Formats: sequence, C-alpha cells, structure tokens
Amino acid sequence: MGKATETVLEIDLGALEHNYHFLQSKLGSETKFLAVVKAFAYGSDAARIALKMQALGVDYFAVAYSKEGIALRKAGITKPILVLHPLPLHFGELIEHCLEPSIYSKKVLRQFLETAEKHGQTKYPVHLKFNTGLNRLGFWARDVDYIEEALRNRKAIKITSIFSHLAASEDLNEEDFTSVQIRTFEKISKTITTRLGYRPFRHLLNTSGILNYPEAQYNMVRSGIGLYGYGNHPEIDKQLKAVATLKTVISQIHKIEPGETVGYNRAFSSKEQRTTATLPIGHADGIGRQYGNGNTFVTVHGKKAFIIGNVCMDMIMIDVSHIDCKEGDEVIVFGDSPSAEIFAATANTISYELLTGISQRVTRVFIVD
Ligand SMILES: *Cc1c(COP(=O)(O)O)cnc(C)c1O
Repeated sequence: MGKATETVLEIDLGALEHNYHFLQSKLGSETKFLAVVKAFAYGSDAARIALKMQALGVDYFAVAYSKEGIALRKAGITKPILVLHPLPLHFGELIEHCLEPSIYSKKVLRQFLETAEKHGQTKYPVHLKFNTGLNRLGFWARDVDYIEEALRNRKAIKITSIFSHLAASEDLNEEDFTSVQIRTFEKISKTITTRLGYRPFRHLLNTSGILNYPEAQYNMVRSGIGLYGYGNHPEIDKQLKAVATLKTVISQIHKIEPGETVGYNRAFSSKEQRTTATLPIGHADGIGRQYGNGNTFVTVHGKKAFIIGNVCMDMIMIDVSHIDCKEGDEVIVFGDSPSAEIFAATANTISYELLTGISQRVTRVFIVD
C-alpha cells in the first residue's frame, strides 16, 4: 500500500484470511464458524469483510441489529445471518430479508411467533439464547417449560440452534465461573432436546472462548475480535495480524518556544523548545479526548510520538521534537505499532471500543492480497 496522503483506515483482507485460518486451526474439522460482523465489522467495513469471509467458506454471520443484516443481504451475502439483538419493531423486515433472530425472552418469542405467522412462514429458523451468567440477554433454564408450551402446535418457527455467551472467557482467574456457565449450558441443552424432540445445534464460544475453552466448541463458534487481529492476550496477538491500520499525515509542523502553549485551554506547555506536528484526525474520527495530554503515542517513521494537549474535534498535535520528519509524512495511529490493543490500553479501554469507534468520516481503503 502507498503512503497515506489523508486519514485512512487501511483494511488488510489478507490479514483477515490469516486470522481466520489461525482460529480454525484451534477447532475440530466439524465445527462450524460464525463470523461476527456487527458494528461495521468492528469498525472496518461489514460488506467487504463479509464478502471475503463468504468467499473463504465461513458458515454463518452475526450482526447485532436487523438493519446491519439487511445491509449485508443488499451487499450479496447469501449465508445465514444471525441477528443477536433484534428489536420486535423490525421483525417484519427481518423476515423479508431472511435474517435469523436470536430469541431471548418469552415476550420476544410471542412477538416473533405472531409476526412469522402473519407472514405465512413455516419452520422459520430462529436461535434461542439462554442466560448462563452474563445476565444480559437470554431465557433462564426454567423457561424451557414455557417455550415448549408456546411452540406446541405452532408451525411457524423452528429452533435451529441454542446458544449462550460467556461472561469472562478471556480471564483465566474466572475459570470456575466459566466452568459453571458451560455446565449450565449442558443442562439446558439436554432439557431442550428432550422437550422439543429434536436436537438444535449448539454454540457458546467467542474468540477468547475458542482459545481458552476449546472443549466447549460444540457445533459452532462465534468469533469477532480474533478475526480482526486481537486475542485479548499478548501471546495470541503475536500470532494474529491487525486487519485495520489507522494512518494519517502531518499537516503542519511548528517550533514551540519555552513558555508557549499548544491547543485548547493551553493544556500543553513546556520549559524546553519543542517541535510539534498537527494531524488531520480528532475526536470526531474516533480518537477520544482520553488519548490526549501525553497518555498515548502514535508512530512517525517507526518512532513514538506522544499526543500532546487536548484532542480537538478534527485535529491532534503530537510531539516530534526527537523525530526527523516533515509536513506530508505518514503517521501510524495504530496498526502493527502501536497495536489497537496497546493504544486503547493507554486510556484504560479495549481494542473493541477503539476499533468500533473509528467514525464513518475516515475513508476505508482495502488491501486485497
Ligand atoms: C460480539 C459477540 C461475539 C463476538 O465476541 P468476540 O470477543 O469479538 O469474539 C460473540 N457472541 C456474542 C453473543 C456477541 O455479542
């Protein structure tokens, strides 16, 4: 890829393929793979990522909301798409676009059944989400009686899979808690199979689940962050490749004399002379104010340059006193170095938040092969 001449998020589809194969190598050959492409494929580009994953032979996709699934259908995605958090308001269009809802409560089950019947559906594929300890979305184990009754003599839907979500799969201090979640899921699946008289397929693991609890892979796994190059562990991160690299350029260089200040509220000042570079990227692009005032660095010609003063809406200033650089030179905000994980950690957040926060103002460019 050429040097950046504006702020771009460079998306490396070869890195995506590498990460997919790495994650697959941790799984049995029968285990299906669901690619999580919610939130613009973690801030990259859902359509391009999903088309690449579809070409690579992935089995399933997941998004959070119906709207995201509809966009994928319009982009040519024909594989099944699980909608993790569909809102009843959108059930009609969800069905029209052959999206598969996660059904997580009695109320949602009743509402979806009604819409599916209204649309004349038979055996419409749905996925039952059970709560095993995250306490976010999901039926309780005790709801199985209700589910059985609600579905009796109703032909409109078919339970394609049952699933749950781990609360702390990346944290090995929580191994006991996770084991309880796995055992609870086992119990629920036994009851469901007995009650329904057929066996829906099962899935539980996200990326860190694949890496830490492969024994619980069941019939499918759901990976997001790993596909994009992050594994919630430094050793894993070494083996994955960053899909997204945020690049920008130096717009202007200033010599700052001792006693002068830089940026809004005069937040940066120095006793020594400094050289600063102003970059065309700010909090409106997803680089929040928490990254300012010396917390976080970017790299210029491979060298660290700290963000100084307050982050502005459209600009940040960095200290390049020690770096030989000029206006028009490229700056790596995150990618290989610093990684999105390290960049995010400087402000006590995680790669997920940083990546999904890169705003739609930033041009996406793609590296194909
Ligand atoms: C977002 C999400 C995932 C993906 O998690 P990663 O840690 O990014 O792999 C899997 N399952 C559910 C239910 C999710 O909401």
